[in-house]
Amino acid sequence: MIARAMQELVQNSSAIRAMFEEGRRMAAEYGAENVYDFSLGNPNVPAPAGVGAQIRNLTETVPPLKLHGYMPNAGFEEVRERIADSLNKRFSTSFGSYNILMTVGAAGGLNVALKTLLDPGDEVLVFAPFFGEYRSYVANHQGVLRVVPPEPEHFLLNLEAAERLVSRQTKAVILNNPNNPTGVVYPEDQIRQLSELLCRMEKKYGTSIYLISDEPYRELVYDGKKVPFLTKYYHNTIVGYSFSKSLSLPGERIGYLVMPDELDDARQIQAAAAVANRVLGFVNAPSLMQLAVAGCLEAKVDLDFYDRNRKSLCEGLDRYGYSYVKPEGAFYLWLKSPLEDERDFVAEAKKEHLLLVPGRSFEGPGYVRIAYCVSPETIERSMPAFGRLAERTVRRSWEK
Ligand code: PLP
Repeated sequence: MIARAMQELVQNSSAIRAMFEEGRRMAAEYGAENVYDFSLGNPNVPAPAGVGAQIRNLTETVPPLKLHGYMPNAGFEEVRERIADSLNKRFSTSFGSYNILMTVGAAGGLNVALKTLLDPGDEVLVFAPFFGEYRSYVANHQGVLRVVPPEPEHFLLNLEAAERLVSRQTKAVILNNPNNPTGVVYPEDQIRQLSELLCRMEKKYGTSIYLISDEPYRELVYDGKKVPFLTKYYHNTIVGYSFSKSLSLPGERIGYLVMPDELDDARQIQAAAAVANRVLGFVNAPSLMQLAVAGCLEAKVDLDFYDRNRKSLCEGLDRYGYSYVKPEGAFYLWLKSPLEDERDFVAEAKKEHLLLVPGRSFEGPGYVRIAYCVSPETIERSMPAFGRLAERTVRRSWEK
């Protein structure tokens, strides 16, 4: 028998995955070109050419025992140093290699950070709507998730509600900027306010509250928007970065944590995180990929591709009278469901072969997520379907 906790997880197995499977089934039945699958955040812009070239070069030039061998749990020293240098150049910070720990993607990094910080019963605040996997990551380490309700108009940080939820038990706050699922980029003034709030609460309770900044979408921002680098605003910040989206390498499982010297108990945290990487079974991040990304720190996927998709999707949705939060980053659009229960809207959408994810998967009921990391043709061809869906749903909501 599998563990009871796993039975529950298997049963509730992510609505997103379920939708993905449904998409494959529908594609087989109706033809892939007639199914518009906006369900999964799987990048569809190829990795920059330099990444492949770098991998080929590494396999030909680096001695195999180094390339494929064990290494320190935190990762190759020279890779961590190059990442620290690159961050210092971009954000005027002063990190050294010891501030960086190479991880198995953002997911691995978050689990390492939580394993490092949490005692059973410690509370972790997240801002809704949020990436649903946070639930499992916090539960993995016996933490208790506290969900800050959304600010319902612009989906910015609801700081008043956050203040009410912070307690002596609060050990960490997870922030995801740019945000999945809303596409919102939290602006600098809100980051300052959040940082002030956390400083105030640390003083009030005499505790340390760690801000874990989950940043897999940091490079995917549009219209010249800037994503504040949080270690500059709040002393107890741990940054979790991933190359899954910025270099389109989600299957390769590579990212890193930044643990600055300003953290309370910084040295202990840095050392404990390396041990956490080991005891969680990651041991170390994939070695070939560590070396590959270290040679491509300036490279980026073709952001214009996502931006063009973003614009054509918004134009189409505007035409049919849908309401949504204007996406500023990542590759998600947060659409207001014209029907009260967004699951009914998702079901109506499916009749038009449009696959969308209900907002409640992200603790954001009343909305649906559209992942526009698809081909431009998919967006173009899906528009009549969005039109017909609007006829049946948007109009119905106007007539009420
Ligand atoms: N955090 C957020 C907000 C995400 O959207 C994702 C993946 O979609 C992850 C973390 C996990 O990223 P990775 O593939 O780097 O583990």
